[in-house]
Amino acid sequence: MTRPPLNRRLAEFGTTVFAEMSALAARTGAINLGQGFPDTDGPEEIREAAVRALRDGRGNQYPPGPGVPELRSAVADHQRERYGLTYDPDTEVLVTAGATEAIAAALLALVEPGDEVIALEPYYDSYAACVAMAGGTRVPVTLRPHEGSYVLDLDELRAAVTDRTRLILLNTPHNPTGTVLTRAELTAVAELAVERDLLVVTDEVYEHLVFDGAEHLPIASLPGMRERTVSIGSAGKTFSFTGWKVGWVTASPELTSAVRSAKQFLTYVSSGPFQYAIAEALRLPASYFDGLRADLQAKRDLLSEGLAQAGFEVYRPSGTYFVTTDIRPLGDADGFAFCRSLPERAGVVAIPNAVFYDHRDAGAPFVRFAFCKKTEVLEEAVSRLKRLG
Ligand SMILES: *Cc1c(COP(=O)(O)O)cnc(C)c1O
Repeated sequence: MTRPPLNRRLAEFGTTVFAEMSALAARTGAINLGQGFPDTDGPEEIREAAVRALRDGRGNQYPPGPGVPELRSAVADHQRERYGLTYDPDTEVLVTAGATEAIAAALLALVEPGDEVIALEPYYDSYAACVAMAGGTRVPVTLRPHEGSYVLDLDELRAAVTDRTRLILLNTPHNPTGTVLTRAELTAVAELAVERDLLVVTDEVYEHLVFDGAEHLPIASLPGMRERTVSIGSAGKTFSFTGWKVGWVTASPELTSAVRSAKQFLTYVSSGPFQYAIAEALRLPASYFDGLRADLQAKRDLLSEGLAQAGFEVYRPSGTYFVTTDIRPLGDADGFAFCRSLPERAGVVAIPNAVFYDHRDAGAPFVRFAFCKKTEVLEEAVSRLKRLG
């Protein structure tokens, strides 16, 4: 073979660092705080709902392309009850194979080759690959650490918009920084999108995981935004069933139909019985969502305090599963080298934030730890990390 098998669009995305770090964890017996999945399943009654659907023969054959009606109604009701956003379950809701497929389908549907896509850096790893698969050009706008958290520089965002900009790809609550974009930041993004006639694709998979009373605000609810926003949600993080891969899109009929055009040739449909179970999950009482938040907030505090005691500078997250740290106080500056040696040095695996950056230098000294793990696992990790001091 003279030509390498992987095409040019994807050549830079070889294998993800998650695979390398998870293999490292397996090989060394280190505690894996790299990848963000819970080590405890979601609510028993929702697991039972999936079993019931499967036994009753609901969803064992191809479900409807847009998703089962029960789930589309539950998604529409959830958007209305939580955010006052009204979507028609028949024309404005699309069920996808997790948020991952929603992101891919949205970008494949909306981006022409040569279009520019602005994304907030550091960003979730699938964004760059999906922009590339769509033939677009990614334009990173860097979130910068400021007084203990990460902020969006609105001037930088404005300056990044050109005549070729097609859309802004947002993520709030933001992985990996844990930032929850404020009303003022989102209002500025919205005004820019309206002024420059841009679409917004917003990844809100952590909408329920916000701490210290922070508020998640969907940008679709701001003036002029409903008709130009594709909102993406997922059951994975909200209900601790990341393997079920049930996600959804809410958007205007035109945008939903465009995303569906791409989605139908990716998976067509997926997760039949799980769709029925998630329809029930979205109708769980407020106590479920409050309990999840409180549990994760306590875990955030446990890990954040442990990391601070071990000598890291900690960016205490307002949302998500993750805490970002700066390793420079420990005398290190290269997150990659640090993460490769951490299992040996302290028996813990983490992820170097540089993988989430185009400007690798800007991300070099930052390392991300996941806290969606059992309390005893986090306690053990914290005690091991003390060895670094
Ligand atoms: C986990 C995650 C996803 C993927 O969600 P799935 O529903 O599992 O496909 C998408 N975006 C962000 C920011 C995530 O952290």
